[in-house]
Amino acid sequence: MPLELASDVKYMKGVGPHLAAKLDKLGVFTVRDLLFNFPRAHEDRREVKLLSGVKEGEKATFKVRVLEQSRFYHGGRYHPRVRVADASGKALLYCFNRSYLENLLKPGELFTLTGAYVLRRGVPVFSQFDLETDGAQQEPGIVPFYRLTAGLSQKVLRKLVRAALDLLFPLPVSPDNGRGPAHPAGSPAPGRSLGEDIPRFIREGYKIASKGELVREVHFPEDMASLRRAKEALSYQEFFKYQVVVALAREKSVKVVKERTVLPGRLKEAFLKNLGFSLTGAQRRVLEEIETDLRQPRPMNRLIQGDVGCGKTVVALLAALDAIECGGQVSFMAPTEILARQHYETVLKYFGPLGLRAEFVSGAVRGQERKALVGSLMDGAVQLLVGTHAVFSEDIGFKNLALAIIDEQQKFGVLQRGSLRTKGAHPDCIVMSATPIPRTLSMTLYGDLDVSVVDEMPAGRAGVETHVVRQAEINRVYEKVHEEIGKGRQAYFIYPIIEESLTSDIKNAVESYERLSASVFPGLAVGLLHGRMDDGEKDDVMHRFKERRLHILVSTSVVEVGVDVPNATVMVIEQAERFGLSSIHQLRGRIGRGAHRSYCFLVPDRSTGREAFDRLTILKETSDGFKIAELDLKLRGPGELLGTRQSGVPSFIIEDFDVNTRLIYRAQKDARALVSGTIGTEAERTEYLSEFMESDAYKAALLFFGG
Ligand code: ADP
Ligand code: MG
Repeated sequence: MPLELASDVKYMKGVGPHLAAKLDKLGVFTVRDLLFNFPRAHEDRREVKLLSGVKEGEKATFKVRVLEQSRFYHGGRYHPRVRVADASGKALLYCFNRSYLENLLKPGELFTLTGAYVLRRGVPVFSQFDLETDGAQQEPGIVPFYRLTAGLSQKVLRKLVRAALDLLFPLPVSPDNGRGPAHPAGSPAPGRSLGEDIPRFIREGYKIASKGELVREVHFPEDMASLRRAKEALSYQEFFKYQVVVALAREKSVKVVKERTVLPGRLKEAFLKNLGFSLTGAQRRVLEEIETDLRQPRPMNRLIQGDVGCGKTVVALLAALDAIECGGQVSFMAPTEILARQHYETVLKYFGPLGLRAEFVSGAVRGQERKALVGSLMDGAVQLLVGTHAVFSEDIGFKNLALAIIDEQQKFGVLQRGSLRTKGAHPDCIVMSATPIPRTLSMTLYGDLDVSVVDEMPAGRAGVETHVVRQAEINRVYEKVHEEIGKGRQAYFIYPIIEESLTSDIKNAVESYERLSASVFPGLAVGLLHGRMDDGEKDDVMHRFKERRLHILVSTSVVEVGVDVPNATVMVIEQAERFGLSSIHQLRGRIGRGAHRSYCFLVPDRSTGREAFDRLTILKETSDGFKIAELDLKLRGPGELLGTRQSGVPSFIIEDFDVNTRLIYRAQKDARALVSGTIGTEAERTEYLSEFMESDAYKAALLFFGG
């Protein structure tokens, strides 16, 4: 079978099970994934320098010949040492942990060497460098660098990408070009075409090349300027597709008119009186923004952002009271059972005295109980329904759903706003997120959502001190944990989990739990929480921690530690290098919630390199969630920031915020013009839109966007 975009990479020539497993780790499963795994950087190596013409420490590319090979001893073993020379002088290569070079660097061989040297006794010495055989150097001299995983080299990846490109999108044949294998012209076979994301008239207007050409340029550019153009064009197309979805949804919602709401505010007043604290300035401001929306004839779509514990829930509940007082019902969804129950408890506490009726729903509410619940929702006896995703279930209906609140915490689920809209006439919608999404990203993700930010913490929080600690010094951490527990406080130990299904990740937490409870903290009550436990067990452990019957809670990070335990003052995050900065920032928001000073210890794995270690120290210095999120976005890309690779969400090809913002605005303008019919001809627009609405990209985005 000929290779297609959808083919598994393991069917490519030279890809065995071993290499396929490595590619899997990068998220590269198909040939298409391989092509869309864009380089993180390029290096221009077209200019070859002479050894004598470059200063110490300056990175450059040289053409050298091997003179002789020997070995040197370091760290308990031997490594190759190679003497090389060009026309201007000699140099030494210290090949740390690269014994395979022994076979490649035979005397007389010609190589292209890229790196910077240090002078040792007058001799240039390279210890970090890149090598290419002379043959490989005949390829274009701008070299891509990809994100790697252990045991996978740039070289192998480059070769694979080039092979896929040559096979699927060969360069046009011209007798003298010689850059690609010859083959027949014409359009690619189905299964081999990347298609086009934007209407032809827009593509031609901007003089954008075909998608296949753009993808090739992004891997192996002609020059740096064309690389930039190709990246921008691809980004623009990604944004455009998404913005078309947003524009289509907007078109629909603009037409919807709801009844204007008059806000008497009596329930709100009573609630605030019972609350025991006064709102922060930020909370008051956000509530005002919401209430302004509620008075509009258009349904509200508002995102409330703010760090964990800043008081978003209180604001959302105040909005709920507004809606209820005007005769509407409210649904309140949380991503997990534990969080939903916690919200439910809060609601009962505050809404009970106001004479309001709230109910709870999750998958566990079944049979007669569920029937009765649906009955009292339909006849309007229940004003507020709190629950898990179950609030979206088909059998759940309302008499008059006026407001839907979605608490996403740090989990970015698929927004099911669409299915909610069918439940009420056109309910107002509030999404709460603890992920401080940079403006660029929220605009892209939410398009039509207005954003409110609660950027102030309630007074009286003692705050969190963060330390990055080496494994070798872990005993200091244990001591601190002992000390805090001695004072009556509690502690979390958090272990990374990348995918809930990975047994090895769970094993990590389970083994540590056994070690901690048996040998490090014998005599203390230690509990364990992970995603493979059933809901009953999870609730039980959480409950015991909350009731202070457990001193220490060992947990995987996937399990929401969303519980409010102000008495917990220590958090130890193991293998911290595996987390995004934002995730850590959100995790540590679980402590420092009470009046006690709290401590967060980030303990990277022993093998963690300098760079990853330094990255963590950023958290020591700042507690500004937005700043951290922007850094994360730069360092790890949006998929990591959101904690999930979400299909339908445009990927960020360019790291530069300003460029992205410019492209998003342009895409938004063009998409709106397309949808509202002000560019192109009727036939062109219809052709594009009808095809677009059949595409997977559209369906995925729609699912996410919930238009
Ligand atoms: P979020 O939903 O943003 O994580 P919550 O609304 O759950 O935050 O608030 C966290 C905790 O802080 C709750 O116990 C809440 O009662 C309390 N809280 C909220 N607003 C204030 C405030 N203005 N002053 C003091 N405490 C507050
Ligand atoms: Mg919350």
